[in-house]
Amino acid sequence: MSQHPTPPDGLPSGEASRPSPPSPPSPSSPHFAPLIQPDLAGLYSRRAARLRTLAEGHDQADYLRLAARVAEVQASLVPEAGGSGPPGAGAMLQQRHWGILLDRLIERLAPDVPAPVATHLAALRDLADAERLYMAQALNMGRFDAVPAAIAPFLWAMLSLQRASAVRAAPVPGSGPAEHASCPLCGSAPVASLILTGDRQGMRYLHCALCESAWHMVRAKCTNCGAAADLDYLSFDTADATVRAESCGVCHGYLKVISLERDPQAEAVADDLATLTLDHAVMEEGYQRTGFNPFALPA
Ligand SMILES: [Zn+2]
Ligand SMILES: [Zn+2]
Repeated sequence: MSQHPTPPDGLPSGEASRPSPPSPPSPSSPHFAPLIQPDLAGLYSRRAARLRTLAEGHDQADYLRLAARVAEVQASLVPEAGGSGPPGAGAMLQQRHWGILLDRLIERLAPDVPAPVATHLAALRDLADAERLYMAQALNMGRFDAVPAAIAPFLWAMLSLQRASAVRAAPVPGSGPAEHASCPLCGSAPVASLILTGDRQGMRYLHCALCESAWHMVRAKCTNCGAAADLDYLSFDTADATVRAESCGVCHGYLKVISLERDPQAEAVADDLATLTLDHAVMEEGYQRTGFNPFALPA
């Protein structure tokens, strides 16, 4: 793993010597959006395609392909998820609708998954509604240890689909820079941060692990504690790697930064999931991950 300390001008290493990109819209610009809510079906489809690409020759190819299949089913269920329910997940989960979505996911995944996964899916299908609801509520409250790891990602996938649909149906909260450590819409931790291109060239947004929204945060500061004093950028490749871990010597947290400038096909959940070996290396250096991936939920 190579370390790339922040150069004195505050830009991550490898960027300091590049020609300056066009100035991004500043947070004071009328065109600046502190929150982005990507079209859900399009996002899931892009994620699935990216996961299938990253699976080629990958050590965890089977798991990346399973995640791709889940994302494809999520995309297919967007019209059924609706968005008219109450925005609070606790209230939404009381609805039978969520259980129906989960049954649809299980039904559509079952023909395409390896035998051990099919066994877990069958067990999930056969659980009592109350038990499934209890587990989903535990996940929603961050009590990941209350749910078996083999079924948690499937419950999360439907929890996430319903929450993402609900926040898209609700009015977007008032504007203003939203530099929060957790999602300003649902309170979840991020998956990773993304450096965008196009109209938002060079701007950084954190991608929510639950409601699939993204919120703005300036670069070169810790996404967890806000400190800029002791950031480091870690990767296995060169300083130009698409995926790097941004570690903070102040709070000892880290989160990955994924650059669409370096790879326009990159996607937060897919690229994070395909680089979990980087997490192991960064954690061995004594840093704690400050977000999580929907397909690699905390233990
Ligand atoms: Zn969120
Ligand atoms: Zn920090």
